[in-house]
Parts: sequence; structure tokens; C-alpha cells
Amino acid sequence: DDTRILQMEVTRFGRDEALVIVRDVTRLHNLEQMRRDFVANVSHELRTPLTVIAGYLETLTGSGQAPRNWERPLTQMSEQTVRMTSLVNDLLLLARLETSERDSGRDRVSVRELMERVAGEARSLSGDRHQISVSCEEDCTITGDAGELHSAFANLALNAVKYSPDGGPIELRWNTDDSGGHYSVADSGIGIDSLHIPRLTERFYRVDAGRSRESGGTGLGLAIVKHVLLRHNANMSVASTPGQGSTFTLNFPPHKITAASSA
Ligand code: ADP
Repeated sequence: DDTRILQMEVTRFGRDEALVIVRDVTRLHNLEQMRRDFVANVSHELRTPLTVIAGYLETLTGSGQAPRNWERPLTQMSEQTVRMTSLVNDLLLLARLETSERDSGRDRVSVRELMERVAGEARSLSGDRHQISVSCEEDCTITGDAGELHSAFANLALNAVKYSPDGGPIELRWNTDDSGGHYSVADSGIGIDSLHIPRLTERFYRVDAGRSRESGGTGLGLAIVKHVLLRHNANMSVASTPGQGSTFTLNFPPHKITAASSA
């Protein structure tokens, strides 16, 4: 296949002059593709062995036959297997999302139902340490991929729980205006220094790697959110004050939103 991929950059000078730069980015593009395929293949191949390990560990801990002093190592092995499984699943999901930035899915997802479901998941992670509320001015549907939208909505809500270790209120909010629909998650947790904010959606970027790991984070959550948004013509904004809390907002354009009454 000798299809070439060209990138063109046009800079205009005054009325009738322009500088046109054409770059052949085929090699770069192919390398990116190879990287993505490689990550997807590795993640996929790791799933089966992980399932086998997790299965045997469960049998061993459940059987009551493991020697006494094995309790701690077995617990740790189980915990690490769970971590590795979520890492592999996140890598696989990210690789799938990255293969296409095009419009995804024609599902009509009820925002209110999605938010209630996500709030339930956040409450079970919180275990009563936070007051998690849902406010949805007007029920709408988002046109897109139901599974991907769930990942994005849930990631923000679970992060709000993970990064407010002292508890406190968490508010999931939906509102619509002329610019579209907005889903926001506000917490009163540890907050984020502004210098980190532009980098949060990079793969494995963490403000505090120790804290992220402790709370079961893979460092891929916001990278997944970013790619889900790209596929829904949406974007994310973040407002945060260290020590006071953060608000993450997902902004969906008007053409992706339908009022539920007219759906
Ligand atoms: P992780 O699995 O580490 O949570 P994410 O991609 O979801 O990965 O988030 C990247 C980093 O952004 C986190 O490690 C954390 O430092 C920071 N972060 C995300 N959400 C919040 C939040 N609500 N409050 C404070 N920091 C946050």
C-alpha cells in the first residue's frame, strides 16, 4: 500500500501571498498505528493468564486450605491481580478509542439515568464517607456510544471520591444552555495545582503517583475521558483550587443533545 499521508500548513502574508508547507507524515502515522496495535495486542494477550491467576487465587483463598501465614501474601496477590486486570482493561479500552476519533455510536443515552447509575457506583466506592447528590435540571439524551459515555461520566465521579479522602459533598450536575449540555462533577477534595491541569489527560500522568495507586488508579482514566470526548465532539474543562476542591465539566455541543420530552 503506497498511500501517503500529507499534512498541509498554510500561512497567509497580506492579500496575495501565502507560504504552504506540505509534510509527508506517513511514517509517523504508521509508527503511531504500530504502537497502538502493539498495546492492544499485549493487553489482549495478558487477559487470559490474568483470568487464570485470579481464578486459582480465589479457589485458594476460598478453600480455607491455605497455610495460615499465607494469608497476607495471598491477599496481596489478589489485590495486585485486580489492579493489573483494571490496568489491562483500561489499556485495551484506550487503544480501541484511539484507533478512531470519528463520531461514535447512535445510542440515545438518558442523562438522568446515566447520572443516577454513576452516582450509585460512586456511593459504593465512597462507603458513606461522602454526600453524593445528583442535580439534573432537565432530562436530555446524548447521542453517542452508551458504554463510552458511561466510562467518561463514571471516571469523573469516581475520581471525585478518590481525591477527597476526608469525605465531604460531591455534586453531579447537568444543565443545558445555548452552547449545549454540561455535565459537571464538583468535589471538595485535595484539588489540583494549576500547573498540572494541562497535562491531566496524558496517559499515566498523575499529580501524586502514590495516592493514585493507593486508591486503585491506573493513571489512564482521564486519557480515556479525553478520547471518549473527541469521539463525541465534546470537550472538558477543569477548575480547581488546591486544598479546596475541583470541578470537572464535560461540554457537549447542541447537536448531540435532545430534550427527553421530544426524544
Ligand atoms: P488516576 O487513575 O491516577 O486517578 P486519572 O487519569 O483519572 O488517573 O487522573 C490523573 C490524575 O489527575 C490523578 O492521578 C490525580 O492526580 C488527578 N485528579 C483527577 N481527578 C482529580 C480530582 N477530582 N481531584 C484531584 N486530583 C484529581
